[in-house]
Formats: sequence, C-alpha cells, structure tokens
Amino acid sequence: MESKLNNIVIVGGSLAGLMHGIMLKRLGHNVHILEQNASSARSGYAAGISAGPHVQEFLKNHDFTKLPYSVDAEGIQLLEKTSKVKRFIKKPYRLTSWTLLYYRLRANFDGLRSDFCSDPPPASESDGKAIFDTGKRVIDVELTDGTVKLRYEDVNRDKDGMLYADFVIGADGANSFIRRKVLPNVQRPYAGYVAFRGTVPQRDVSEETNRIFDGRLSLCNMSKPKNYILLYNIPGEESGSVKPGERVLNYIWYYNVAESSQDFTDIMTDTDGHVHHSMVPTGKLRKEVWDRQTGIGKSVLPKHFVELLEKTKQPFVSAVSDSIVPAASFFDGKLILVGDALSLFRPHVALSTNQGALHCSLLAKVLKGEMSMMQWERKALQYASSTRLSSIVVGNYGQKGLVSFFVSIIKYFLVIIGQKIPGLWPSKL
Ligand SMILES: Cc1cc2nc3c(=O)[nH]c(=O)nc-3n(C[C@H](O)[C@H](O)[C@H](O)COP(=O)(O)OP(=O)(O)OC[C@H]3O[C@@H](n4cnc5c(N)ncnc54)[C@H](O)[C@@H]3O)c2cc1C
Repeated sequence: MESKLNNIVIVGGSLAGLMHGIMLKRLGHNVHILEQNASSARSGYAAGISAGPHVQEFLKNHDFTKLPYSVDAEGIQLLEKTSKVKRFIKKPYRLTSWTLLYYRLRANFDGLRSDFCSDPPPASESDGKAIFDTGKRVIDVELTDGTVKLRYEDVNRDKDGMLYADFVIGADGANSFIRRKVLPNVQRPYAGYVAFRGTVPQRDVSEETNRIFDGRLSLCNMSKPKNYILLYNIPGEESGSVKPGERVLNYIWYYNVAESSQDFTDIMTDTDGHVHHSMVPTGKLRKEVWDRQTGIGKSVLPKHFVELLEKTKQPFVSAVSDSIVPAASFFDGKLILVGDALSLFRPHVALSTNQGALHCSLLAKVLKGEMSMMQWERKALQYASSTRLSSIVVGNYGQKGLVSFFVSIIKYFLVIIGQKIPGLWPSKL
C-alpha cells in the first residue's frame, strides 16, 4: 500500500469508522467520513460498552483528551433469585458507554465540542485533513480505472453527489450497504432470543440496589423459562461523568422468543405500528410490551433487577443476530470492511467495539509496511470467526439446551484448531 493516501473515504461515522479516521489522520492521511445521520448529535444510544483490550490500547495511544472514560469493575458476580452472591469470577472490566465513546472519538477526530468533551485536543501540523460529513448516505460503490467511485445521496438537501477515493473503508455497521454490494449473500440469522436493554441513573435507584450492583458486573441465570440478565455501571448519560452517584446502571436481559410467534411481532412493533427486524430504538418500544415484560420480570428476576425495570424510562429491544463475511478486502485491496460490517457478534462476550479497534491497529501496521493487506484480512477473519463462535457458546449456555451448548463448543474448538494449522483456515488466504 502507498505510504501516504491523500484521499481516504470512510463510510459510516460510528465507533469503528471514527477509530479508523483518527488513526489515519494522525498518520498524515486525508480522511473524509460519510455518515448518513443528518446531524452530529447522538442521543438515545443508551448502551453500555465493555472497553476490551484493543479499545483500551486505542484510547491509550489516540485519546489526547486523557479524560477518564470508564467505570471499572473487579469481576462478575453470579446472583441467586434472592440477590445473594452464588459465585464471584475475578476478571477486571472497563465499562463505558456508546455515547461517551462517540463524543470522545469525535473530539479527537475533528475537534467536535460537546458536554462530554468541552476542550477537544488541537490538531497537530502533521495530521491529515479530517472531515466528518453528515447527511451523506452512500448508495453505490464501484472500482473505475483503479479508483473507487462512491455515489451518495445528500439526506439534508435531497440530492446526489459523487466522490473518488484511493482507499475506502466500509464501517457502515451490521446492515452495511458496502457489504451488500460486494457480498450480497451474507446472512444475518436471528438467534432465537431478543435483548431488552435499559438504563437507570444511580440517583434514581435505592441505596440497597446501588450497593448490590456496585463495582461488579452482576449476572442472574433463570431456568423457567431459560433466560439471563446482566447488569453493570457505566458513565453518566448527560456528560459521561464516572463519579460515584453520577453513573448509570445499565442492563441487558436476554429472552427467548420464536421468530414466527405473535409475541415476536408484538415486541418488534413500535409505537407508530412499524415492525422492526433488528431493533426497536429508545422511545419507540410500546408501553404494553414493556409492562408485560416487567410483569414477567417480577416472577422470574431478583427484586433488585425488577426495581430497575420499573424505573427504566426509555427501554429498547433488539433481536439478537450475528453475521460473518468470507472476505474483507475487495477491489485489489482498495476497499475493506471493518467493525460490525465485517462481522456482527451476539452481544454476550461484549467484544464488538474491540473488533473495530483491532481492525484499526492492524491497518496501522499495513500502512507502516509491517504487514500485508492479505495478512490484515486473515487476522481480521480469524478474530471474527473465533469471537463470533465464542459468543454463540455463551449465548447457548444462557438461553438454550445442553445439546446446542455442546454443539457450539465443538464448532468453536474446530475453528480454533483449524486456525492453528497453516493454510487450513481461512483456506483462500
Ligand atoms: C444497543 C447496542 C448495544 C451494544 N452493546 C455493546 C457492548 O456492550 N459491547 C460492545 O463491544 N459493543 C456493543 N455494541 C456494538 C457496538 O456499538 C458496535 O460494535 C460498535 O459501535 C462498532 O460498530 P460499527 O461502527 O462497526 O457500526 P455501527 O455502530 O452500526 O455504525 C455504522 C454507522 O454507519 C452509518 N451508515 C450505515 N449505512 C450507511 C450508508 N449507506 N452511508 C453512510 N453511513 C452509513 C450508520 O448511520 C452508523 O453511524 C452495541 C451496539 C448497540 C446498537
């Protein structure tokens, strides 16, 4: 790959796109992010994110604000129905939020000021140009005379535009347009369960409940029906404060619902009557759906979790699914897929953002001449396949029967062994 690319376009300005944008501009490349959202403001992404090792490494190297970004936990406690601790697994976690990461990355990419970062770090003289272009939805991509041509519609002005790029990064998420264009047959099958999610500020939660959930991730498995809930503290929603008392309790409750059932259609039908395939966002989940789910919670969950369900103002739900690609580099290495566009994991292992950060650090090696694009692709596909399967193992343990669980373990180990045998997997590379 050329040592300086003057014209890099990233499709998608979320976490994976922004991490790549920051890394590239700091290596002196000019970066243009095309993002379909009409504005830079983001709210309602009330999601906790576990900052895995590659995210931590990225922030250590590239977050020049040096502000705190996480609430740290010492491990996971497994709770009984009475909220008594059954088991404690010591494993440190750094827990943050989608919104904090988004605004922190924007501060570093193009100096966006926000309540999360009022004093963004200045650009350095050696940085390339960094453009975050909102309201631009990419609607076509092709290779023409050795250059990648992108067509987009301007969502704000209702008109099309064109861009040419030396290198394009498809960071446009789980429903990636770029992926559909180059790999139209990739599937995203439903896992058989949904994830109800919500957050409650610490200040709204009773002292006892705050104490039980403090400093640890809390997990409760239920057998009738089989389902589980996970909860942890994350930075505050308004400005990302990590101070005790200003944090937010964030939970995810996995619940089995057959795709063909009326329950599934009911859950995925929003307040406007629109039936979603993958997520009913915050503010759109119908009250009757949430009241019913809270009622179920009262009979199966420990009372401290029920308190949170009852105090959640804006719950949301996603149908859990995953996907993986057979290849990640196209157009002679001039177009790559990264982040969720490359592989969507079920959320159980909380490593999706970590995957985006890994892609970014591997690409930096390619640009510095320390690795070939083919090696980048091999490592990205290997990480995707093993992590995706490990998350299926955890999901099957929590949601399904023993047979599914053991079959998923066998598949996982076969892939791990296959990856250790040179040339066996992925076979094309
Ligand atoms: C509710 C929720 C909870 C999550 N919890 C966790 C967690 O606990 N731990 C974890 O590690 N990860 C979690 N994730 C996943 C994590 O947010 C993503 O893995 C991470 O943001 C990386 O995603 P991405 O940037 O690849 O894609 P996305 O975040 O999906 O971003 C894609 C971007 O591309 C834009 N876009 C799409 N199509 C186009 C187009 N045609 N033209 C221009 N722009 C386009 C979209 O508007 C969006 O901004 C969660 C995600 C959600 C939604």
